[in-house]
Amino acid sequence: MSLASGRSYLAIPGPSVIPERVLQAMHRSSPNIYEGELLELTHSVVPDLKHVAQTDGHVAMYIGNGHAAWEAAVANVLAPGDLVLVASTGRFAHGWGETAAGQGVEVEVLEFGIKTPVDPERLADRLRADTDKRIKAVMVVHVDTSSSIRSEIAPVRQVLDALDHPALLMVDCIASLGCDRFEMDAWGADIMVTGCQKGLMVPAGMSFVFFNDRAAQVRSGMERVSWYWDWEKRSKADYLYQFFTGTAPTHHLYGLRVALDMIKDEGLEAIWARHATLARAVWTAVEHWGQDGPLTLNVADRAHRSHAVTSMRIGLPYGADLRRWCETEAGLTLGIGLGMSEPEDPDGRGFFRFGHMGHVNGQMIMALLGTVEAGLTAIGAPHRTGGVAAAAQVIARG
Ligand SMILES: *Cc1c(COP(=O)(O)O)cnc(C)c1O
Repeated sequence: MSLASGRSYLAIPGPSVIPERVLQAMHRSSPNIYEGELLELTHSVVPDLKHVAQTDGHVAMYIGNGHAAWEAAVANVLAPGDLVLVASTGRFAHGWGETAAGQGVEVEVLEFGIKTPVDPERLADRLRADTDKRIKAVMVVHVDTSSSIRSEIAPVRQVLDALDHPALLMVDCIASLGCDRFEMDAWGADIMVTGCQKGLMVPAGMSFVFFNDRAAQVRSGMERVSWYWDWEKRSKADYLYQFFTGTAPTHHLYGLRVALDMIKDEGLEAIWARHATLARAVWTAVEHWGQDGPLTLNVADRAHRSHAVTSMRIGLPYGADLRRWCETEAGLTLGIGLGMSEPEDPDGRGFFRFGHMGHVNGQMIMALLGTVEAGLTAIGAPHRTGGVAAAAQVIARG
């Protein structure tokens, strides 16, 4: 007998759970794209997006997923033959680097592994050696969704400043914005990219590139910039078609408007605190289960863990078995192991991930953990029972 009928729960690190209010706002007939409400609504999301990013800079919006924002950020400030330094803590940093390489940019990856964050000292060593300042940008992924490592951004800025290095600091916040604390201006990011389907709680389809005046200046000095990806006209648009270089993502804009209202109503500090507490509940349960058995969190130090996604190792065959049991027997979909291959497990099937980003609350996390504990028992994976009770203590303290 399966217990999967009922409301399903997609607990993967993006796309995230979509609030009913967002879905309802999108369920409507097509609006006029030449004048009226939609134009006002589009202008209205700009300051609210900047607030979420904690920046007074600029934002360009794109119809596309996170990869589109990667592509756009590269297209505006990097030319073929330019050198970028990618600080990697997982699969997504490599992905951004591959995007740059595809545009003819020379990519150098500084590998920090899949268990520890970016080390500013090692970054400083490499930048110090760049005496002729060939490195045009440093790319950092705030939260790498494959490893669930969260790296500090402000220390990277301090390294660049201390060395008086002109490289732009480009940050991927696709998994972290609206979940983990991020302060673009205070932390000194020049460019930040994000998508709408994770912390912003909207179905995949829109993405954003935030940039400051320094980055805008670099853009102005470019010999040529792709007409479509150019952030200049998008960020200074008067007409709807200028925002998106063509037809606007009409329904996504209605959804995004409501999602930004929800973020404003709750408040960023409260949202960051909610994610931090829910993440602690998740870690507490996993650490408890792992006391008798193979289950371990990928990132050992709590200070370096994402509050929006958690990567775990349980080994073969348990990872794949657990995900299958949770989905087919209980209606809960967990994330696959991504970029975590090992010699004895080339597909990373012994790994799995929880997404706990965006529209998630205490009862959802308790349901997630309760289902996983049932799944561990059902598939016969050794673990210490009582992880759910331990997590309940965290939720109870708030
Ligand atoms: C999800 C994600 C991406 C890719 O976004 P898509 O919308 O799938 O293109 C890039 N970077 C990070 C950190 C992500 O979490």
